[in-house]
This record gives sequence, C-alpha cells and structure tokens, in this order.
Amino acid sequence: MGRAVVVVAAVAAASACAAAAVLVGRRVRSRGKWERMLRVLKELEEGCDTPVWRLKQVVDAVAVEMHAGLASEGGSKIRMLLTFVDNLPSGKEKGTYYALDLGGTYFRVMQVQLGGHRSSILAHEVERYPIPEHLLISRSEGLFDFIASVFKQFVERNKNGYECSLDKRRDLGFTFSFPVKQTTVSSGILMKWTKGFAIEDMVGREVAECLQEALIKKGINIRVAALVNDTVGTLALGHYHDADTVAAVVFGTGTNACYLERTDAIIKCQGLLTTSGCMVVNMEWGNFWSSHLPRTMYDVELDADSPNPNYQGFEKMISGMYLGEIVRRIILRMSLESDFFGTISSKLSTPFILRTPLMAALCEDNSPDLVEVARVLKDILEVPDVPLKVRKLLVDVCDVVTRRAARLAAAGIVGILKKIGRDGNGGIASGRRSRDDTKMRTVVAVEGSLYTNYLMFRDYLNEAVVEILGEEVAQHVTLKVMDDGSGIGAALVVASNSLRES
Ligand code: ADP
Ligand code: MG
Repeated sequence: MGRAVVVVAAVAAASACAAAAVLVGRRVRSRGKWERMLRVLKELEEGCDTPVWRLKQVVDAVAVEMHAGLASEGGSKIRMLLTFVDNLPSGKEKGTYYALDLGGTYFRVMQVQLGGHRSSILAHEVERYPIPEHLLISRSEGLFDFIASVFKQFVERNKNGYECSLDKRRDLGFTFSFPVKQTTVSSGILMKWTKGFAIEDMVGREVAECLQEALIKKGINIRVAALVNDTVGTLALGHYHDADTVAAVVFGTGTNACYLERTDAIIKCQGLLTTSGCMVVNMEWGNFWSSHLPRTMYDVELDADSPNPNYQGFEKMISGMYLGEIVRRIILRMSLESDFFGTISSKLSTPFILRTPLMAALCEDNSPDLVEVARVLKDILEVPDVPLKVRKLLVDVCDVVTRRAARLAAAGIVGILKKIGRDGNGGIASGRRSRDDTKMRTVVAVEGSLYTNYLMFRDYLNEAVVEILGEEVAQHVTLKVMDDGSGIGAALVVASNSLRES
C-alpha cells in the first residue's frame, strides 16, 4: 500500500470515528434530555401524590377547621359565614321568580316558574353570557350597569307574564359567588374579591344595594329579595328536589361549599335564633389550608405570582381557573429542561393562556397520534412539532394535576360529612333512613362546569369519595348534579321566604 493511500485510509477512519462520536454524543444528550423530562414528571407525581391516608388527614383537617371557624370570627382560614338562610325550599313554593347569577366566568339570567309541589319547576329560561374581561377590574358601576342591561334585555325577550312597567312588584334572587358578610338574607358587604375580580371600590360595600340602584337606573321595578352565595343556591335547589340534601359544593371557575348547621353549633354567634334551629353556613372553603395538602413548586410560584398571594390556597389547587395554569407552568419547566419544544414561545410564557377546558381536551385526547394535543400545542402555545412521546408525557401531566384536584375536592366533601356526623363514624341524630335502616341517606348537591363538563375530574372525585368513606358508608352518600342550581336556587330562596312571609 502506497503512503498516500495509507494517509487517506487513516483520515477516513478518523472522520468515521468523529461522526460516530457526534452521533453517540447526540444520542446521549437526547437521552439526557428525555431523562430530565421523565424526572420532571416523576417529581410532579411524587409531589401530587394523594394516597388515601393523606386524603384522610385532609378530611380531618377540614373538619377541625370547620369547628374553629364556627368557634370564633377569624378562628380559621375557612370563614364559615352566616347566610341567614334558615329554611330550605320545601316544594310548596309557587309563582314566577327571577335570578341573576354572577359567577367567575359567566353571568347567567333566569326566570323560574314554580308549581307548588316538590320538584315542580314548570319552566325555566336560562341565558348565559361571558363576563367581559375589562369589567373584572373596572369600577362597580360598570359591572352593575352590564348586569342590569343584560337583565332588561332578557325580560324584554321573555315577556310572558312580565311587564317592565310593573304594577305588581316582582322579586329577584341575586347569586353572588364571592365572600360576603351577610347581615340579612337580602343584604351583605363584600369582604374580598376572588377568581380574578379586582374592583376595589366594591370592597366593603352593600352588594344588593349596588344591584338595586343599577336596576332602578334602568327603570326596572324589581326588588332584590335575596343575596345568596352560589353554593347556597345549589343547596336550595338540591333540597327542593330531595329533602336529604345537607350540603352543596361548587367546582367552576372557583370552588366553595356550604351546608346546613345547627345554630347552637355556631358558637361565634351565641343567641342566634332561627325558626328551624338551623342555618346554612357558607364555608368559603377555597381559602382552606393545611400542611397535609400536597403542594409543589408550581403551586408555590402560581400563588406568589397571583394578585392574592397566601389566599385561596385550596381553590388554587382545585378549581377551573387554575388547573390549566398549573399545567402551563409544568410545560414551561419541561421546555427549559430540553429542546423538545424548540425555542420557548412567548405564548408558553403567558400566564393563564392554557385554559382548563383546553387542558381537559389534552387529557381526554384518545386518538393514537394525540392530534388534539398537537393542535393545542401548535395553535394555543405556538409550539409545533412536539414529538409523540413528549405529547404522551404531557397527557400524563394533565392527568396528575386533574387527579390531585379531584381527590382533594373529594376529601373536602368528606370533611363536611365528618363534621356533621355523616361519614359513617357519627351517631344517627335525625333524618330519613335508608333501606337497611342503619345509616342516614346523605345527598350532596354539586354544581359547576368543572364537575359537569369534565368527565375525568368527576370520575376521579366520585371514586375518591368511595375510597375515603369505604364502600359500605359510601352507599348512603349521593352526589347529585344540580344544573344551574346556583341561580335557580336563588329564585327558590326568594320564593321560600315570600311563602313564609305570606
Ligand atoms: P362560573 O364559575 O362562572 O359560575 P361555571 O360553573 O360554568 O361558571 O364554570 C366555568 C369554569 O369551568 C371555566 O372557567 C372552566 O375553568 C371550567 N370548565 C368549563 N368547561 C370545562 C371543561 N369541559 N373541562 C374542564 N373545565 C371546564
Ligand atoms: Mg357558577
């Protein structure tokens, strides 16, 4: 072999080795990236773990905090607010009533016709409008003018039996899903905003009065006869259909719960007298906190960046406003750990861009190629061409976040049952008994689109209730969906009060 040939062969061998080294290096780096992604997922799974023993700790903590909140004003992060609703609808309510329901995302207007016996809602009209985002941070006049004009248009469209120039006074129930210090069933002061609302001039003001003024300004002759929390409306509708309904929970933009309490257990209001000996207590459980809650760095950062840090900690792990945002933060972290997502898009860095219904769509994508996941990544987060194996990982991320939320929500519900002795460990105090006559039948009314529209959330929640209570006790506990309960229930509270006044 000539010298020149040997040199060429040596150069070729060297470059082949170099190419192989580059390839191996790339593979190692790629494996490294992939392993880092897996590590992020593993850490997340560990951080969000909710074995049944931990859920039971949360149950106990909820029950303890409920006691503390009832014992003294400010005694707990759960406010346990009086509602002055001491009688729930019985079924005898009759007539036509209106309700306005201001949620976190939607404003709903409704008209309800009641037939005079249980479950006899003869007709109801509901119209739903997204709340224009600029109104969440405007002045109170802007918000209430919007509410009054939408109501006026609704009345004009559904004129059956109603006239705008009223000779007969009509009554209206107002569902206002924010913490209110109630002074009567129809009046109360806004304590603090939640769920992205920040209309500063409203805090400390009479809520029903603001609405009443806006209605008068629009020439609408109607009395705001009840101011109720959305959970209270849901409980009222639940009880109207089924007298064993003792509590209500809402999983929508935010989350909250209420239940029927004995007045003598509301120690902070000694001497509180009601005809029934009971009152509905609005827990404001969104602000519940316990060291037993499984918290991750994403929750800590989300809270720190929120307009209300150290507030609504439970809500921030559970409700529709936040679940998509938690997932966005995890995807952002994954994109920083690897280049599977290309250069980081500005969309991926935009808070709240991944709304919870989109996150649910990722989680529920059953197509073999995860086309919906690819679509959301490309269209919403502007990260195209994410490999299939990474898309699969993202589905797991959504699943972990959804499952934790639903299981904590279930622990909250069982916490209420524990407080009122319906978790299988309490005594049998009163109430109708189920067939085997050993345990009371217990119904919890549920409302909110996170629960009604997101099947996986609902399934995980229902499953966890059974897991915590055990099959035997769980047989006596029913979660019943009350569609539009928050609004219809407000109309029912008005009807029930006017029945008692007449
Ligand atoms: P509000 O909170 O205004 O009373 P809803 O009870 O309808 O209204 O809840 C709306 C919230 O529910 C949305 O902001 C969203 O977070 C969540 N949501 C609605 N549809 C879905 C869905 N299909 N999957 C997951 N979450 C959903
Ligand atoms: Mg609502």
